[in-house]
Amino acid sequence: MEKKGMILMHRYELGRLLGQGTFAKVYHARSIASGQNVAVKVIDKEKVMRVGMIEQIKREISIMHLVRHPNVVQLYEVMASKTKIYFVMEYVKGGELFNKIAKGSLREDDARKYFQQLIGAVDFCHSRGVYHRDLKPENLLIDENGNLKVSDFGLSALKESERQDGLLHTLCGTPAYVAPEIINKKGYDGAKADIWSCGVILYVLLAGCLPFHDTNLIDMYKKITKGDFRCPHRFPSDVRKLLTRLLEPNPNARITIEQLVESPWFQKGFKPVAARARSESLPNLRDVISAFNIDNTDDEGDKKAQVPEPVKPTSLNAFDIIALSPGFDLSGLFERREKQEARFITQKPASTIVSKLEEIAEMEHFKVKKKAGSVKLEGCKQGRKGQLAIEAEIFEVTPAFHVVEVKKSYGDTMEYQKFCDHDLKRYLKDIVWPWQGAADQQHQLPPLSPAPQPSLMSSPIS
Ligand code: AMP
Repeated sequence: MEKKGMILMHRYELGRLLGQGTFAKVYHARSIASGQNVAVKVIDKEKVMRVGMIEQIKREISIMHLVRHPNVVQLYEVMASKTKIYFVMEYVKGGELFNKIAKGSLREDDARKYFQQLIGAVDFCHSRGVYHRDLKPENLLIDENGNLKVSDFGLSALKESERQDGLLHTLCGTPAYVAPEIINKKGYDGAKADIWSCGVILYVLLAGCLPFHDTNLIDMYKKITKGDFRCPHRFPSDVRKLLTRLLEPNPNARITIEQLVESPWFQKGFKPVAARARSESLPNLRDVISAFNIDNTDDEGDKKAQVPEPVKPTSLNAFDIIALSPGFDLSGLFERREKQEARFITQKPASTIVSKLEEIAEMEHFKVKKKAGSVKLEGCKQGRKGQLAIEAEIFEVTPAFHVVEVKKSYGDTMEYQKFCDHDLKRYLKDIVWPWQGAADQQHQLPPLSPAPQPSLMSSPIS
């Protein structure tokens, strides 16, 4: 269990509990190196594994690096101990928007400002292919300047699993913000479902109560699927019209974000914000490596830990860590490694990686089989346990970065290791991205470090 004052992974001092969900507890914490306030979401790995959502969560974490927006809570990094996953996030000081509504409805101008910021964030995330699917006032936080920040973007897999587990219903009791197509368990479009939830949020901000409410859950479902809601008399006609278009039960007829943004009600006082520039320059490699070159498989409470070199969490995200930290083994994060695996990082495009593997195959007399995202090399020689077969899977981290995971798919482990240590390293030396440390060591080859099961998307191979 986490306790106040506990030093987490040698890097963050835990503070008070900010909130709690089914899988996670959220704590205030302070970076030991920089003193920066952060929020740490602690997720029980076992619970998440039990509901079988690992792959989806991995995928979603991997796309979070695409989401940097002033109105979206930023994920700084992901860490893991034996039993826990930690999401280190931007700390949002002002609490939940929910608390403001709990005191009553908002003035129209205030509601509009929050709604504009919400739509700006949602639109940006959608443009990056990230959908929330669980938008509700509890996920909307207010910072010290009174600006809205959407939390949990990209973590919808966890929410999905809450639903699969049946826990969301028992704990929260209401699907009040969920689009009818999700309730009806029809395949749904994440963007349209998010717009519906934004409609419910707008209603709640202006009315101070839910649009679809009934003491009987079945009747509430019926109201949602029919889009059966009433506006208070004081609602102006343009707000009513807009709500009718947002809370349209047919997702295909529902207003799009583009149409919404053009509406005169939305446009009033609208100041579009620029998305945060994605740091094109990668963080200082030496800092990153030294900061993460620690054994992170300890459990979290080592108070005597030495503080590593300072690292600015703002410049890191889950992706950077996975890509840049050979000593930071995230393998415990998701699954146990059963096969012998190795990985390397390259700044070459997928086509070059494939050509290189083909070249190796030709030189070493392997047959090549290409699949989406991976290349298989099958040996012709009979080994101790049959013909050696090796699979190299290529993942795109950013257009400039690829991670290649190499694993044995058949044959003798010793023969495979020998092949990795001698032939593979030698052939790949031109394309493997040299670590800073490795470069210092007279151009030694970087180690083919154990694969961290990176949560990355497969890159298509032509
Ligand atoms: P969640 O499990 O994401 O719903 O978080 C539970 C609660 O923790 C939220 O309702 C907030 O009150 C609080 N919380 C979550 N993330 C943050 C954050 N980044 N900054 C401050 N408080 C947060």
